[in-house]
Amino acid sequence: MISLANNMRMNIHLLTLVSLQSFLFTLVCGENPAPDPLMPPIIKPGEYGTPEKRGTPPSDAIVLFDGSNFKQWENAKDGSEVKWKLVDGAMEVVKGKGTIQTKMKLGYGQYHIEWRTPEKVKGSGQGRGNSGFFPLGGPEVQVLDSYQNSTYSGGQAGAIYKRYPPLVNACRGPGVWQTYDVIVHAPVLDKEGKYIRMSAYTVLHNGVLIQDNMDVGGASGKTGNLRLQDHGNPVRFRNIWHRPYRAPLPMSEQK
Ligand code: MG
Repeated sequence: MISLANNMRMNIHLLTLVSLQSFLFTLVCGENPAPDPLMPPIIKPGEYGTPEKRGTPPSDAIVLFDGSNFKQWENAKDGSEVKWKLVDGAMEVVKGKGTIQTKMKLGYGQYHIEWRTPEKVKGSGQGRGNSGFFPLGGPEVQVLDSYQNSTYSGGQAGAIYKRYPPLVNACRGPGVWQTYDVIVHAPVLDKEGKYIRMSAYTVLHNGVLIQDNMDVGGASGKTGNLRLQDHGNPVRFRNIWHRPYRAPLPMSEQK
């Protein structure tokens, strides 16, 4: 009669034998597949900005302004120090102190900014809460207080200035924080290097699509400074970041 202890010992031996066999099988047959080169990298998304709360950038973004200083910015005209104001973790345009730009040249990809026109409404049309967002130096995505403010269509908030009006007016009221996500698409070339499509802007205003892949020209490999306009109105900006263009991965051949 086989005792309980003997039985257990036999079972353990059997288990060891099975594990060893499975280990040898993996070693010989290569059970683990090669790493998938199309596997997307893991990133940590940020928090999206709201009228009440400043957003935070995703973990793979180049942070251009976190509210604390102008270290990455300069006067666009002569490269001198920025003379705009820092207020409550935001930058504010100071009339006459000039358009500013990033010291760094940036390329195609995703741009994000939060902006706010003055709470106290002054002026009208193009004179009310006017500034501008110029990825790669331009063309301009218009920043304007377009809330119950009449002006020409190509000059509204979210217009690609004097080229394309926004699809809708998604403007929040004066003094309320808003967001732009501007995707600057790289041009697409065929195998012979001929342009199939020029660079284009896609713009989301407060999460709403307002420009859908609109042609803005631009050469392959172009870079430029991100500019913010001094149009004489104390517009504020915060949470500015950029994610460089990443070529779409080819279709996987896996079935
Ligand atoms: Mg403007």
